[in-house]
Amino acid sequence: MTGLRVGIVGLGAQMQENLLPTLLQMPDIRIVAVCDSDRTRAEQINRFVSNVMITDSFDEMLASARLDAVVMACPPQAHRDLSFKAMAKGVHVFVEKPPCFTLDELEALITASNDAKVVTGVGMNFKFAKPMQQLRKMTSTEQFGQTVHVQLNHYASKPTSPLWGLDSTLRSFLLAQAIHTIDLGVTFGGGELRDIESRVQRHGDSLLVSLELQFTTGASVSLLSGTLFPYFEFDMKIVSSNSMMVELNNLWNITMHEPEHGTSATGTAKRWRGAWQPGPLDSGYERSGYFGELEKFFHAVRTNTAFEASFESLRATYKVIESICDAAEQNLALSA
Ligand code: NAD
Repeated sequence: MTGLRVGIVGLGAQMQENLLPTLLQMPDIRIVAVCDSDRTRAEQINRFVSNVMITDSFDEMLASARLDAVVMACPPQAHRDLSFKAMAKGVHVFVEKPPCFTLDELEALITASNDAKVVTGVGMNFKFAKPMQQLRKMTSTEQFGQTVHVQLNHYASKPTSPLWGLDSTLRSFLLAQAIHTIDLGVTFGGGELRDIESRVQRHGDSLLVSLELQFTTGASVSLLSGTLFPYFEFDMKIVSSNSMMVELNNLWNITMHEPEHGTSATGTAKRWRGAWQPGPLDSGYERSGYFGELEKFFHAVRTNTAFEASFESLRATYKVIESICDAAEQNLALSA
């Protein structure tokens, strides 16, 4: 199948700044229709592409644009509701994160996607960011050994009030921000989740969330996140059974610490380390994962295979989110 017919939904900031420019770089993708509930927004597509159907009605787009796939960047309730409609018509679906609000809603989306036999995808771009792909390669080598522990620090300063009509700032934060980091913890932890422990501290409108995960592989994941920080930062360390430690700073540069450094020029002296950075000429979309996620999603559509960041892949992440929210509610009830 060449020249996939794609409809885009929600021409807001994320679509215009990241997803649309990435889609326009893909030779086999034809953007044939645009839908935004705000029609003047939808009309902004004329700045980027011509000869496109423009509508504020998703039903109209589905009925007449003969789509292979839709790519959406809307609020989660639209991702959820419009995904059901698209899947029922056999249209493949890619939505920005988060795809929905709760684990129950995610289960319903998974069931619908299995029934419709469509490929689903969620914009978990951190997972496809170039340094993260490099990290995944490094940690899957025999020399690195088994992942024993993953430490994740995801510092954020927002949201400090509920989003998308929700009544919980905590759930909004977990769905808007921590979803990326929890998903990385689940990905690098490997195997099945065995145990989840969490603690939420509230300071004014800000939150501090600490999380410990145990996996059937024996690996543990420790995550510190929240909105109490001055600005966004993301760091990660992975420790292996061979006493290697690999460190990712700010989703950018990787440092590999080994008991013995492999470069002969350094001799036998201890405490040398190896460093990796993305190439200075790599495109921003490639580095930040938008190109990788969409390229792999459309590859899955063409080959009728599952995409790694499918609705189903987020089941464990949503279990963790529900567990954090439940534990925080019980704590609030106990302290009331
Ligand atoms: P935005 O408000 O700028 O854009 C959303 C657009 O969707 C608006 O134009 C709105 O009119 C439209 N819309 C709303 N409901 C609709 C419906 N039912 N049908 C059609 N159009 C509808 O928001 P944004 O900042 O672009 O965020 C959009 C999504 O992208 C959010 O889910 C957000 O979490 C996600 N996002 C992801 C990342 C990331 O790191 N991957 C970064 C930023 C935003």
